[in-house]
Amino acid sequence: MISPGGGLADLYREVILDHSRSPRNRGEMAEANRQADGFNPLCGDRLRLFLRVDADDAVREASFVGDGCAISTASASLLTEALRGRSQEEALDLIRRFRAMVSGETEPGDPALGKLAVFAGVRDYPTRVKCATLAWHTLKAALLKTGETARTE
Ligand code: ZN
Repeated sequence: MISPGGGLADLYREVILDHSRSPRNRGEMAEANRQADGFNPLCGDRLRLFLRVDADDAVREASFVGDGCAISTASASLLTEALRGRSQEEALDLIRRFRAMVSGETEPGDPALGKLAVFAGVRDYPTRVKCATLAWHTLKAALLKTGETARTE
């Protein structure tokens, strides 16, 4: 018997692999007006996130550089795609929803997360949750301009 759940898990894994092998928006951004660093000591993932936020408070562009595992790289790649055109408030809302999904606080299937649903399975692997959320901690630091290196707790 074919399990529909297995098919979905395969699709999710494929999206994560694709984004880890060919990350989108990877590179420094000269015109960035926000940036923050992130570090996940558990896995060794490092990340620097760049944002260009325009005068009406919307994220016009996002990019990242870093050195991390497949999950952290794919998460940063999908984050930069998901952010484009969002207001800061929407971005902070997305951070909350993403963290709730991967930590298992909410059931998977939040429509606001769209493609980011591929990380729903991470909840079953507590050590990987920090890999998946690193880019999101870093995003929060960049938006709120804390100027510190974001660390997964
Ligand atoms: Zn990692």
